[in-house]
Amino acid sequence: MKVLELKETNSAKAILIGSEVYRKSQFGGKHPLSIPRVSAVLDLVRALGICDKEEYKTGPCAKPELLKSFHTADYIAVLKKTEVSQKISEKDAKTYNIGSLSNPVFPEMFKRPATSVGSSLLAADLVANGGRAYSLGGGLHHGMTGYANGFCFLNDLAFAINRLRDLGVQRIAYIDLDAHHCDGVAAAFPEDENLFVVSTHERKRWPFTGGLDENIPDRFLNVPLPSHCNDSEFMFVFEKLVLPLLDRFQPEALIIQGGADALVEDPMSRLCLSNQVIFKILSILLGFSQRVLLTGGGGYNPWTVARLWTGFWALISGRTIPEVLPNQATELLRSLSWQRQTKPKEIMLNSIYDVPMEGQLRDEVSDIVKKVSSLHKFKHS
Ligand SMILES: [Zn+2]
Repeated sequence: MKVLELKETNSAKAILIGSEVYRKSQFGGKHPLSIPRVSAVLDLVRALGICDKEEYKTGPCAKPELLKSFHTADYIAVLKKTEVSQKISEKDAKTYNIGSLSNPVFPEMFKRPATSVGSSLLAADLVANGGRAYSLGGGLHHGMTGYANGFCFLNDLAFAINRLRDLGVQRIAYIDLDAHHCDGVAAAFPEDENLFVVSTHERKRWPFTGGLDENIPDRFLNVPLPSHCNDSEFMFVFEKLVLPLLDRFQPEALIIQGGADALVEDPMSRLCLSNQVIFKILSILLGFSQRVLLTGGGGYNPWTVARLWTGFWALISGRTIPEVLPNQATELLRSLSWQRQTKPKEIMLNSIYDVPMEGQLRDEVSDIVKKVSSLHKFKHS
């Protein structure tokens, strides 16, 4: 198969985009996002010495005027106002889905997602003429134009897609590795023949979209995976379906949402992947385009998030993922805290790599691949 023969390109320039806003802000005491994620990755890449000064940029906070080019003006006004007052009326809470357990009122509720938008826009600017950029705090794939949805107050990915278009990049493949379906991205571009939206996600899980019936050839590739999906099954889905269809689409740029919640140790899904298979897939994806924009996404276990995203940075910046962690990195991982668990498994402190989760290829996974293939009028070998 042609696509698998493509070589991993290590020569492209890569930029890591972060911000200290993620270190300071918390969604609230018991919220799943109240864990160190972006800050842990920034600290870990520095402890490992794998990010030179010129490879790092601080993501800017996008201004309200700019945000109104995708989101509704009334919603942006309410977000901004509520950040200042820290109060929301019952009517606005209902209209904008804010003030709930999922989308709480918190001190940086505008600044934090607006920084994710600014970061992903910067990433789009950086890759438009070739290159790679990693918007660590981006990946808000549930964000809707006029309301908050699934921890996402804004939708940085929609901005990145539109910005690439403004800069002359037409054909874009958006690949979502998160355990949840990217309902916000799918809703933002219902008709756009130059955008291929690919999502592998756990079936029967919130937001309950992205089913088999939502497959449209070269437009929407939805692969709903059964719970306990293992590395072998995930690789099968990519080799037989995702990679050949990406090859057929011939994208000029890739946007990859690198959510970490499909990993076995994540509390928000029942997919059972190790980071090894995801690293392998990212390495292959990098061979598809000279323009790659990578973002964060879900991920609710601080150790698995920090290790996956640090490994992602190593890969896109053309480095080898370190086999053994130096003491400073181990101590840093040991210092992370999580209210659900006081002590992580030792391997999570000593290595970036998880234990592989290889297993049997279940009939239901090959059946899904067969069904989705036929929906895309594609016959795999
Ligand atoms: Zn998710």
